[in-house]
Amino acid sequence: MINFSQLAEKYQTPLYIYDFNKISQQYESLKLAFKARKAILAYAVKSNSNLSVVKHLAKLGAGADCVSIGEVRRALMAGIPRYKIIFSGVGKQDHEIKEALESDILFINLESEAELGRVEMIAEDLNIKARISVRVNPNIDPKTHPYISTGLHGNKFGVDLNMAKRMYLKAKNSEHLDPVGIHFHIGSQLTELEPIREAAVIVADLVRTLQAVDIELKFFDIGGGIGVKYDDEVTIDPNEYAQAILGTLTGLDMTIMCEPGRFLTANAGYFLTRVMYEKQNDEKRFVIVDGGMNDLLRPALYSAYHKIEAIDNDGEISPADIVGPVCESGDFFAKDTQLPSFNHNDLIVVHSAGAYGFGMGSNYNTRGRSAEVAIEDGNDRLIRRRETFEDLVALEEEFLK
Ligand SMILES: *Cc1c(COP(=O)(O)O)cnc(C)c1O
Repeated sequence: MINFSQLAEKYQTPLYIYDFNKISQQYESLKLAFKARKAILAYAVKSNSNLSVVKHLAKLGAGADCVSIGEVRRALMAGIPRYKIIFSGVGKQDHEIKEALESDILFINLESEAELGRVEMIAEDLNIKARISVRVNPNIDPKTHPYISTGLHGNKFGVDLNMAKRMYLKAKNSEHLDPVGIHFHIGSQLTELEPIREAAVIVADLVRTLQAVDIELKFFDIGGGIGVKYDDEVTIDPNEYAQAILGTLTGLDMTIMCEPGRFLTANAGYFLTRVMYEKQNDEKRFVIVDGGMNDLLRPALYSAYHKIEAIDNDGEISPADIVGPVCESGDFFAKDTQLPSFNHNDLIVVHSAGAYGFGMGSNYNTRGRSAEVAIEDGNDRLIRRRETFEDLVALEEEFLK
């Protein structure tokens, strides 16, 4: 049990709290599911990029899936070995590609033919052979929120099967490219296994086609996207997930790469906020809290549901919206939810806030971002201090005329 009142006293609010033991449990359950094969769980750093979170995963043996050179640097700083780091993303800049190659990470995941050309040129300049994989878009509907669906031809991610084949042939014939992996990632918050299995079948078939022309890939990268329970979702069982993937790989001797983000961090995270005021507009009751959409954007961006818990409160229950102080109507955490009546400074916990929470935060309305706290084996510690006004103006102040 987390003592939220004590943490609020000690660190103030709004506050992000991460249960590191829960992250470990999630990691171990997935690792165990894949024990029949060589497998690297490459943590999707973007889901929660706090250095201490990444370091915690590094200690568990995780690799890292990065989508910018900044994330690659974070992964290296946090102690993830370079040979477990991969770099994905549709728009890598030249300097990012160069640094990734110089850092000698496991591979760069290509998302277009044009990018293949850039990587080849940069590898030639450096006089090295760049390890690459190609992100295949298997054109499978993952049946998730359209903003987090990535594996349909209408999405900007990856390339179709024919293009992928062409890129592998080009890479094979290049002195500066070494095709070592193949990748797909069809979306996020996936709760159905069948689309993932279908995608794996398609990509595994492509691997076999490539073998026929002497292209031997070592890494079968199945992306991330395993859904979690925010509400009453029925989620994918890690063992069934692993079995479904392994079932598509008969006859192929490949290391599996999996890129879980949300699965590891979402339900290990809590966003703690204090009630400032209650107000009634006509029929509607609003609870105004000190956290806002600049701290936790998911409700505003995806109409995402987060479970709300009132701490130490047995007030009378009635429906209310929980809203933040930011000047936007999209600034809410819950709508028409049954909530007790609140007093000034009462605490509210927003659950499942460990993934795509802090990282999507901003300084909108000149609000400093929250502090972040880790809890491990019953002990709490600060892992990022609260931003101050001075932090927010630091990059502008010197230009004041
Ligand atoms: C975002 C992303 C992930 C992680 O997705 P989750 O839903 O958090 O597991 C994995 N791989 C790639 C390429 C991504 O873009």
